[in-house]
Amino acid sequence: MTQTEIPSEEIEPKERVAHPFRTLRELVDFVSGKSIPSEVPTEGLRSEALPFPFLAIVGQKEMKLALLIGLINPSVGGILLVGPRGTAKTTAVRSLLDILPKVERSLCYYGCLPEDIEAGGIDAVCPDCAKKYAEGQPLSAPDRVRLNELPLNSRLEDVVGGIDERAAIHERIRVRRGILAQADRNLLYIDEINLLADDIVDAILDAAAQGSYTVRRGSISATYHSRFVLVGSMNPEEGRLRPQIMDRFGLRVIVRGLDDPTERLEAYRRVQAYQANPRGMSTAYFEDTQAAADEVQSARAQLARVTLPDNVANPAIKLVQRMGIDSLRTEISWFEAARAYTAADGRNQVTPEDLQAVASMTLRLRRSQFILDYFSNQEQEENEINTMITNLKRDN
Ligand SMILES: [Zn+2]
Repeated sequence: MTQTEIPSEEIEPKERVAHPFRTLRELVDFVSGKSIPSEVPTEGLRSEALPFPFLAIVGQKEMKLALLIGLINPSVGGILLVGPRGTAKTTAVRSLLDILPKVERSLCYYGCLPEDIEAGGIDAVCPDCAKKYAEGQPLSAPDRVRLNELPLNSRLEDVVGGIDERAAIHERIRVRRGILAQADRNLLYIDEINLLADDIVDAILDAAAQGSYTVRRGSISATYHSRFVLVGSMNPEEGRLRPQIMDRFGLRVIVRGLDDPTERLEAYRRVQAYQANPRGMSTAYFEDTQAAADEVQSARAQLARVTLPDNVANPAIKLVQRMGIDSLRTEISWFEAARAYTAADGRNQVTPEDLQAVASMTLRLRRSQFILDYFSNQEQEENEINTMITNLKRDN
């Protein structure tokens, strides 16, 4: 699969005054090529909590685009970032903190929302929320999407929840909310996902796909909402990810190191500027970051109006079939990513160019050929090194 060119023409340009860009996509392109503004002070308050600005990450356009698409449309079904260490994967995910959109957050332990009642009737929410709804009380309040990171040492019980032992002492047995329930309506990030136990990854992917999950402990059971944007990252040199798991991510991005020496130097300068003064760096990108956050929010609102015409969808389905991909998830992710891309561009109808723009990230690694080749190449390299060492020893 070759890298897809991002089309440069616009169909319905939106009005912009303050910035030389018209859409979220252009903003990403624009800021990635921009140098650090000269007014960044070199001294000031240190703050570890301030993330590296998303828009200050040099290059890595596909990774940035995939993450933004995930924020705009969680239905793409998760984003997997594959690449060696030091390619800004974790930095990019954490830097999303400043551009995360606002959502309606449930006020209830089980994550009930008014839209559940609209979709599934009053039985779709817990009894407490049904009562509140009948009394006209709010079930949710606006809140920013949060970034939840799954600790690598998490046990299955931490992830799905378990018996609340403190409550059990008081003979009020209650199922404790797991990490998945806490991640509802948030962004769940799993670094080194390939090092996580299979049963845990399966539970996470099941919950992500269904948007809810049920925990049973003896006679008690509880169902929790788990509608989150899933981002996983992995270094394939540190262990493989089962192809079945790889296939369950909607978008897969291969993150490579920067090729261009000028870009590498610029990346170094920005990291240096950030380390010397995180607040200064954050301030320097504040305006652009705000603009990106606004774009994400308005793209999310626009998404519901974005349609995919049959004559655009049909050739895409034929292509998926020609590639020998069975999974129906492929075109779901592809179409949902294209809808997000269209929404980010301020339009209402998906064009073949929109499909093309997100094709690589949705179609690659579907047949897991890359990863098979990757590991066989690594093995070959390993063997060559071993032979060289053996020869060296023998020669001495
Ligand atoms: Zn409830």
